[in-house]
Amino acid sequence: MDKKFLPRRDPPTPAAPATAPKPGAPHPATESGWLPDCVYTGEKFEVGLAFFSDALGRITRFSREPADLAAARRLAGQAALPGLVNAHSHAFHRVLRGRTERLVRADRDPGNGWREAHDRVVGMISAEDVFDAARMVFMEMLLSGITCVGEFHYLQQRADGTAWPERNFLAQEVMRAAHEVGIRIGLLQVAYARADYRSEVGSVPGPFFTGSVDQSLRDAEALRTMAAKNYAADEVWTGVAPYSLGAVPLDQIKALAAYARSHRLRWHLHVATRAEEAAACTAEYGRTPIALLAEHGLVDKRFTAVDAIHLTDDDVRLLGAARAIACACPITGHNLGLGVAPFEKLLAAGAGVALGTDSAVQVDLLKDARLLEYERRLARRPRSGLTTDPATALFHAATVAGARSLGATGGALEIGRPADFFTVSLHDPSIAGADAETLLASIVFALERRAIRDVWIGARQRLSNGRHALHGPIVGRFVDGQRRLWASA
Ligand SMILES: [Zn+2]
Repeated sequence: MDKKFLPRRDPPTPAAPATAPKPGAPHPATESGWLPDCVYTGEKFEVGLAFFSDALGRITRFSREPADLAAARRLAGQAALPGLVNAHSHAFHRVLRGRTERLVRADRDPGNGWREAHDRVVGMISAEDVFDAARMVFMEMLLSGITCVGEFHYLQQRADGTAWPERNFLAQEVMRAAHEVGIRIGLLQVAYARADYRSEVGSVPGPFFTGSVDQSLRDAEALRTMAAKNYAADEVWTGVAPYSLGAVPLDQIKALAAYARSHRLRWHLHVATRAEEAAACTAEYGRTPIALLAEHGLVDKRFTAVDAIHLTDDDVRLLGAARAIACACPITGHNLGLGVAPFEKLLAAGAGVALGTDSAVQVDLLKDARLLEYERRLARRPRSGLTTDPATALFHAATVAGARSLGATGGALEIGRPADFFTVSLHDPSIAGADAETLLASIVFALERRAIRDVWIGARQRLSNGRHALHGPIVGRFVDGQRRLWASA
């Protein structure tokens, strides 16, 4: 293994931070090329390799030709990796950070305390707050190397429960926030019909309620056509997401999954989040959640089971046989005391495993990845035999599997895929001294977010020397909004 990319000199002096082009800037008119010290091309880092993209920002070639190496933009002291894909986010949860950590309820259950704060904020949050929080959290994603997000959007109505004149207004605001920040977004339009299993449609608080099956389908179609008309198809697109089996009756879930299939969209569902869910589902339908979905032909490659924590071995087999995806959200799972998805069992069965930042209590997908592995180690579960190299498996989850879950074009630096990548400083104390063989494990298990230098999406630079061009306005607006929002609480 070639180790010559190890930096031997002092790191280059960082350029002034405001050099990043404004998000929304057009693609470069001609070919772009980059030459980092090393580039991750899938399972290994390669040294002395430049890569190039066309005017549409798609990778066209890799080269070691001296003329190409000379022509490419030199990224000295840096390694380039494919952009991370965050398969599950609730952007507006960003307003709750730090405000749910006191265990004030008698039961000391962090999940119940979080739910109380969440329900309070839903009753007072404005459209402006939603937009500002989305910009804030999407910028944080770029700062952590994420280039594509799956936004599971379930805040559909006004805080008082009445509908917006344009029913998809808030979803459109979240799309606009992503576009301004410059991150790719698959917006998963949520249906939310009732409070829980065996309750009536309409029993859910007004801000979430999305109405009948027909209304949900009309809303999904209106949002899909709006996105197609206003944005590039690989930058902003839609999917559908019944909130959960408790929140949406089975007939409505079947209709939404059929709609997704007919339009070649992805569909996501919170499932097996809590241990009690299996009993509640069995009481209504006579089956556990995954068994019920499989029985109705709903578990397939387009399906992502979000959370997927309390799975039986049969559930794991069903997800694996269908090549479905489970999205684990370990930081949130730890924060709320929920647990994490059985990563290795799912992989061994043939299912994909993606990662999500979920409640945005902390935005760091690599930390999510390492928590999955640490959970297994703490529980002293034996290895399934599939993943003797957890760093590679976890990085795959944070990239390739996430892209598959969302139907996104990125996830790997390959010819034909977009030039979506982030760079890390090889001089950063958290990973300094790594060689080609140990660099990925160093990044997955130890990288500090500050080591992330540049982020490029479709060959357009979104982060330069760890800073976004709109950093000041995004943070400033968010801070003002937080002050206003919580003053009224
Ligand atoms: Zn969630």
